[in-house]
Amino acid sequence: MFRLSNFVEKSLQKNVWELASDSGLTLLHSPLLKKHKGLKHAFTTRLGGQSQAPLDSFNLGRHWDTDESRLDAMKNRERLCRILDLDFGRLAVPGQKHTTNIHWIGNDDEIKEGPLHFQSIDALTTNKQQQPLLLHYADCVPVIIYAPEKQALSVIHAGWRGTAGSIVVEAVKNLGERTGARPQEMIAAVGPAIGPCCFEAGEEVAQALCATVSGFEALINRAAPKPFPDLKAFNALQLLQAGVAEVDVSDWCTSCNTKIFYSHRKESGKTGRQGAIAALV
Ligand SMILES: [Zn+2]
Repeated sequence: MFRLSNFVEKSLQKNVWELASDSGLTLLHSPLLKKHKGLKHAFTTRLGGQSQAPLDSFNLGRHWDTDESRLDAMKNRERLCRILDLDFGRLAVPGQKHTTNIHWIGNDDEIKEGPLHFQSIDALTTNKQQQPLLLHYADCVPVIIYAPEKQALSVIHAGWRGTAGSIVVEAVKNLGERTGARPQEMIAAVGPAIGPCCFEAGEEVAQALCATVSGFEALINRAAPKPFPDLKAFNALQLLQAGVAEVDVSDWCTSCNTKIFYSHRKESGKTGRQGAIAALV
């Protein structure tokens, strides 16, 4: 198995992310984030929902072109909120277009009309209590950043384009500008995503990723003819180089574990979306 550089190995949390059962769903929680009572969060799996094949079964995306699949996704989202005791009617979801665009949800922003989708946005930030933020993804990297002292939160969708654009660093800056939180006060979790075991990329992708961090060619697995970048490690390293205090990285690869997770690449696009949800409480 490909290893990270010594610097990253030392700076990252060594937590094991275990699957946990909650009211019929199978979820994961970052051990680092879970220590904080002011934050509620979960990373979902494909297990325990009502969506039909090939979206079976806890699909949270509305990408599939049937009314029934969209309705099932909304029911799955509603159930997730109910189990976590969060307000489904205030759920905020970025549209996720592989941009580095961030939207701030402040206390003046009222979300009353049911789940709100923000088009052409890939990260949401807030300091609003009881405001659930939801990502949906299949292989891309989900990141949650939390600033406990300022009670501020960001959820970020980082595919290779977002990672090459250092969207997590933009989110750290946005949180700082909006709340005064310093990066040193922030912690972060990088959830299940496609690993360097499975993410084959072009040389131009590898070069774009390496340009975001200094001296870390080692985050590209060069054992095969084509490069296999470690997208989770790139995001973790960008966060650490931005000054974030601790980063917890899931070792689950979505593509290696399609019985548990959706994988866009492994399943040739015919699949659902798992989620990352978080709220200040
Ligand atoms: Zn893999």
